[in-house]
Amino acid sequence: MSADPNCIFCKIIEKKTPASVVHEDEHAIAFEDVNPQAPVHTLIVPKKHIPDIHSITVADRELVGHLFFVARKIAAQKGLEKNGYRMVINNGPGAGQTVLHIHLHLLSGRAFHWPPG
Ligand code: AMP
Repeated sequence: MSADPNCIFCKIIEKKTPASVVHEDEHAIAFEDVNPQAPVHTLIVPKKHIPDIHSITVADRELVGHLFFVARKIAAQKGLEKNGYRMVINNGPGAGQTVLHIHLHLLSGRAFHWPPG
């Protein structure tokens, strides 16, 4: 799937929109959420434009696993292991997805409740 010209995350990947990037490699980019919901709120995003979880194909399995690997690396860099962190994927508007380009939310630095809101 090529870049979507209307997708804000594709624009960040293409450096057409600025972002506070904390990690970038061939397959993924991670940047700070512009509207943080916790003291740590980082988004891990594949460079491939995949709109939602249901659009993932068998060929994307390694890429999706890579997102977790990047999240783990950022969590280690930010020293989050001790107090824990939450990783969230909102899928579909009913679950709160507002950007149709899959991403992991990495959240930490405050208490989190369960069940989630
Ligand atoms: P979701 O609602 O799960 O689709 O998450 C989308 C997230 O992207 C939200 O937490 C937004 O605050 C965040 N977001 C939207 N635009 C930007 C941007 N330009 N830079 C950084 N984060 C953004």
